[in-house]
Amino acid sequence: MHKNLINGEWLDGHGIARNINPSDTRDLVGEYAQADRAQTELAITAAAAAFPAWSLSTPQQRFDILDAVGTEILARRAELGELLAREEGKTLPEAIGEVVRAGNIFKFFAGEALRPGGEALPSVRPGVGVEITREAVGIVGLITPWNFPIAIPAWKIAPALAHGNCVVFKPAELVPGSAWALAEILSRSGLPAGVFNLVMGRGSEVGQTLLNDPRVAAVSFTGSVATGQKVAAACAARMARFQLEMGGKNPMVVLDDADLGVAVNAAVNSGFFSTGQRCTASSRLIVTEGIHDRFVGAMAERMKTLKIDDARKAGTDIGPVVDAGQLGQDMDYIGIAQAEGGRLAQGGARIEHNADGAPGFYLTPALITDTTPAMRINREEVFGPVVSVIRARDYEHALALANDTPFGLAAGIATTSLKHATHFKRHAQAGMVMVNLPTAGVDYHVPFGGRKASSYGPREQGRHAAEFYTTVKTAYTQA
Ligand code: NAP
Repeated sequence: MHKNLINGEWLDGHGIARNINPSDTRDLVGEYAQADRAQTELAITAAAAAFPAWSLSTPQQRFDILDAVGTEILARRAELGELLAREEGKTLPEAIGEVVRAGNIFKFFAGEALRPGGEALPSVRPGVGVEITREAVGIVGLITPWNFPIAIPAWKIAPALAHGNCVVFKPAELVPGSAWALAEILSRSGLPAGVFNLVMGRGSEVGQTLLNDPRVAAVSFTGSVATGQKVAAACAARMARFQLEMGGKNPMVVLDDADLGVAVNAAVNSGFFSTGQRCTASSRLIVTEGIHDRFVGAMAERMKTLKIDDARKAGTDIGPVVDAGQLGQDMDYIGIAQAEGGRLAQGGARIEHNADGAPGFYLTPALITDTTPAMRINREEVFGPVVSVIRARDYEHALALANDTPFGLAAGIATTSLKHATHFKRHAQAGMVMVNLPTAGVDYHVPFGGRKASSYGPREQGRHAAEFYTTVKTAYTQA
């Protein structure tokens, strides 16, 4: 039984969540204690008690702890990657890549702990000095989704601790194993009791308690728009700080002058790797007339070569969908798209058993052509290996279609035209823009986030994370 970490102690919960391997549903990955409202409040109390001392801890102390956590994560990449692949269904290379990213994030924010931002300015009044400093915000509640079960926790926990905050962390109920492993590393890292707390459990109970408790100064949330709206409403009602990273309906524009191989690689990678379960997935391909048929043909051929199998098996390109609920949603959207006039050009077949006969949530990646911008498949996030194609007349039309979405996370373009690439970088309404690259590939040391319904508040990752995890103080001194 994996327990919750509250005030430095591992505590039983009031229920058990069972974590099932989506590649082989007979395989129980682990059992996780479920905290309730009272235990979440206990964790908040512990964080409140730990905050005064931790907020004044030395940058060297924070550096040493975060650096050591990063070192351990990187050293255990194979084992943690295996766990991640087993519980979430990412292929082993992708899972190990995510673990490495988490380790590097801790290393990056170890460095940030040594670099507190501050300014000294002359006052407009004679003899007065002005200092602008950044201080920790207080107790931060961190709520994460299941699709990046170690990297997203890392990119919230590491900056929170680096800047002197205390943490109460609630991972996704569906995939808590990697988050628990990260908490276990943090529990041995030298952090004083109460600085970091793990509370696993239901969003409606544990998560909602974090949103409502007046002692929680800030909430950083990643997940769906529907839950993000609840976070926003609860935090706004009590004037708490909040940050939201939510869904996407990310376009990838393919122009007539694109290198076909580059375009297909970027589209297959962004649309289908990690089983399409990435907020940055290119789920809408917007393709101009002159290359449309060649591109769709090449894409379909490439998709036929993808090996769909157990996530941990060598050579697997696409693992399973995370659970039965997500699988049902993916298949529903394929049906809806066809009912609305789309053509299933490739894939979309349910596979009940993998090559070894194990039952799992497998679905062959689906490409749906002949879609129009108003169809639901082009307006709503599917969050699975389902990609639609829209025909565009020319670049200007393609750009307009790319921006015609309530979301604004990532946008990509495949082109050999410097003019169009430059114009697209300036005019795509997205927080991240990729030229001749998958929309789903991002670095760990630079800002991550979007616009419109995809994001709210300061960026995550990189130095910009300080905007959320610190508060500015302006001090005046008469000499
Ligand atoms: P979700 O259902 O919104 O859940 C996200 C987290 O919120 C989970 O920990 C969930 O707990 C918790 N939660 C649920 N109800 C809550 C409530 N009332 N109060 C507080 N917390 C609550 O999202 P998901 O299905 O896990 O993740 C998929 C979504 O995340 C997609 O829309 C995807 O695009 C988005 N995403 C965005 C980014 C980004 O950076 N923009 C990155 C990755 C994923 P339970 O697990 O108990 O339900």
